[in-house]
Amino acid sequence: MTGFAPQTTKAKAAPPAALIAHICRVCGGPASFGFGVSVRTGREGRWSCLPHRTEVERMVS
Ligand SMILES: [Zn+2]
Repeated sequence: MTGFAPQTTKAKAAPPAALIAHICRVCGGPASFGFGVSVRTGREGRWSCLPHRTEVERMVS
């Protein structure tokens, strides 16, 4: 016991809910890349995060 408590209270940078409108098809994480998305027709398409971008892109045919 040193009596010295290291400050590890790093505020979790939680992105606003509005930013996480889509989830990655592979890992379910926040997705920022959309494929086959059409705003005009209301098609959601497939979304992916950065690491799974190529994987999800291959799913779209
Ligand atoms: Zn992913």
